[in-house]
This record gives sequence, C-alpha cells and structure tokens, in this order.
Amino acid sequence: MSAEAPLNPTAAPSRPKNIVIMIGDGMGPSYTSAYRYYKDNPDTEEIEQTVFDRLLVGMASTYPARVSGYVTDSAAAATALSTGVKSYNGAIGVDVNKRPIPTLLERAKKLGLSTGVAVTCQVNHATPAAFLSHDENRRNYDAIAASYINTDADLILGGGEKYFPTPLREQFAAKGYQVLTDFAALDSVTQPKVLGLFADVQLPWSMDEPDAHKLSKMTTKALELLSNNPQGFVLMVEGSQIDWAGHDNDVAAAMGELDEFAHSIEIVEQFIRSHPDTLVVVTADHNTGGMSVGANGKYEWHPEVLRQLKASPDAMAANALGEEQWRDTLATSLGFSIDDELYEKLSRARMQGKKALSEAIKHEIDARTNTGWTTGGHTGVDVQVFAAGPGSELFIGNQDNTDIANKIISLLPKPKKEAK
Ligand SMILES: [Zn+2]
Repeated sequence: MSAEAPLNPTAAPSRPKNIVIMIGDGMGPSYTSAYRYYKDNPDTEEIEQTVFDRLLVGMASTYPARVSGYVTDSAAAATALSTGVKSYNGAIGVDVNKRPIPTLLERAKKLGLSTGVAVTCQVNHATPAAFLSHDENRRNYDAIAASYINTDADLILGGGEKYFPTPLREQFAAKGYQVLTDFAALDSVTQPKVLGLFADVQLPWSMDEPDAHKLSKMTTKALELLSNNPQGFVLMVEGSQIDWAGHDNDVAAAMGELDEFAHSIEIVEQFIRSHPDTLVVVTADHNTGGMSVGANGKYEWHPEVLRQLKASPDAMAANALGEEQWRDTLATSLGFSIDDELYEKLSRARMQGKKALSEAIKHEIDARTNTGWTTGGHTGVDVQVFAAGPGSELFIGNQDNTDIANKIISLLPKPKKEAK
C-alpha cells in the first residue's frame, strides 16, 4: 500500500460497501491531457493537477471480441465493462452468440444492493443500456427503453423522454417509480425509485448551460438516495457526450463535457472522504476522434482560446443563423474579432446552413488552438484507469476492460448460500 493514499485512510475496509463506476465516453488520454492545460492557471508557474492526474492508477485495452477487430464501439465496450465478457460491436449485454450475460448492476441487485445509472445521453443509449439490459443491437432504442421495466434499478437518470411514451411511463409508475421530466424536481426527491428523463434525447452541451451542472447534480442525488441502503450500492455515472464532441471534432464542447465529468468525479471523491467504504473506478470505454494536443508540425497548443468561448460552436452557429448583425455577436461569443477574411469564410458557410457554419467555427477554433483530429470515429488506443477507495489497488497497472469488470465483480459481497 502506498503511504500517500489520501483517500485510503487506515480505517477504511479492504472491501468496499459501495461501488461507483464512472465512464468518460470516448475520453482517450489526449482528452485528459488537453483538459489539464485547459484548466491550467496561466498566472502561476506550475501546471496544476486535475482530478484525473490525482486518481490515475493504470491503463486498459479496449478491443472488442475478435469478430469485430481491434476498434471497439460503445456497446461492446460497455458490455465488457458491465459483464466482464467481450462481445461484438453493437452488442448490449449479450455475448458473441447473442446470449444475455448478467450485468454488474443485475448481480449487485441480486445481492441486495441498490443500483442506479446517471448519464448525460438518453438513458437507453449504448453505455447505460449495457448496464441495464440485454439486446442484440444497440439501435433497438425503443425495445431497450421498454425492457427497462424489467430492470430493478433504483435510479435511471439522464435524457431520452421521447423513448418513453405515456403508457410506458405509467408502467414505471405502477412499479413504484417516480417519473420525472423536470430537472428541478430531482432536488426534492427523497427516495428511490426514480426514472428521470431530463431531455427529449441528450442533455444540452454543458458549455451552453454553464451553471446547470446537471451531471454533478444527478451524481450528488444518486449518492444521497442510494446510500440509504445499509447493504450498499453500485452506481454507474457516464460523461456520455465527451464522445459526441469527439465524433463532432469539437474541442470546445469536449472540454465543457470533460469539465462537468471532472466535477462529478470530485463529488464522488468528496463522498469517499465521508464514506471511506466506497470505491470509485473511472475509465473511458474507448478513444474518440483521435484528438491531438498540438498539430500541423507546430509545437504549440493554445487553450486560452477555449477559455474565452461563451458558447458551443453548435449554439454559436444557431444564433448566427437567426441574426442579421451576426458578425459582432459571433465575435463576442468567440472572444476574438472576426477579420474580413474570416468573415468571408464564415459568411459562405452560413449560407449553407447551421451545420456548415458550426464546422467553419470549429475549424477556426482548431486552427487557433492548434488542435488536430484524425477521425470522426473511434480509435483503438488504450485508455486510462483512475481509482480511489478500498480495492482501488486492484486497478493499478495494465489491464483489459473485461478485467475492470471482473475485478469489480470480485469485490461484490459473496452470495449467501440458499437456505434448504
Ligand atoms: Zn463510447
């Protein structure tokens, strides 16, 4: 045991009562490096540590089952992280033969623990789906949502209202769930079970509602509600849209999502200080976008450009489209002036619509920050593993994503022998 393990006070038990697994979707190593410089205080000589630097313990490979090659999708990766079994890309909690495999949350529930998920995507998207259900195809969104009626999860928090029509919501209510669609109402909830659907599909970009801190608030509430169970709990928290920003090659939105995910990790870290019987394991399911911190042969990266942005490129484009005098407002949102050459470029893009304008804004931000991208998809590099609390030493060093699940499963209480 390391002498400097501030989150492992000597009184802490060797086996955790509570387990929080946190997934930064698409959060490859370049994201957490970029985030460190994004958060750096430029007025001090040192580069300040982030929560990721503080909690880093190891690395994990992410490759899916052989049939899908070396580069995983979110479904196969989440299935690996929730079941300890590799499957094909697209698989939700099923093996390569499409047979359901028990998930971490199902195992925990059987042992009398409380369970929950809190995510920023729709709750039936690949990652939460692979912790809550079984389906041969991640795209079966309606079937996956409907199947949640059979999960015994105590908390399901995120977006995805449109996948839960009224009759389905009534079924949840009949099973004792409070069904919420108003985010503010989450505050006054005092006990599980809760199905919270706080957006039609995904939650807004964090950077477009900087004071909302929705993932942090869902995490805080989940810890509060689940810790009512003296047997303990297992909670999965996902910073879902780090990945979406990566697919969009949007470094600004990525830093916003990462910041909110980092806050949520800090909340769990704080919870561990007062509940030393809690383990947190943080990882990514894969890397997205092949983001590079520095590009084009130049040894430079300029996060100060990102710190001045007042909105996401998507939101800036939408605003500029609806306005005649858009040059000044856009410049204000960007935090830099738009010269004639850039104005020409943006005007041409604006005429092609919101998507083209958003692309043009992102290109300008990439050029000014000197950020590079290699793909609009996923890459096969290893991801980092972060952990604190009892059992965290199990995650030190190199491992596979299935090992992460199997280690967590090994920390669950042993099943009691059936009484004869
Ligand atoms: Zn993913």
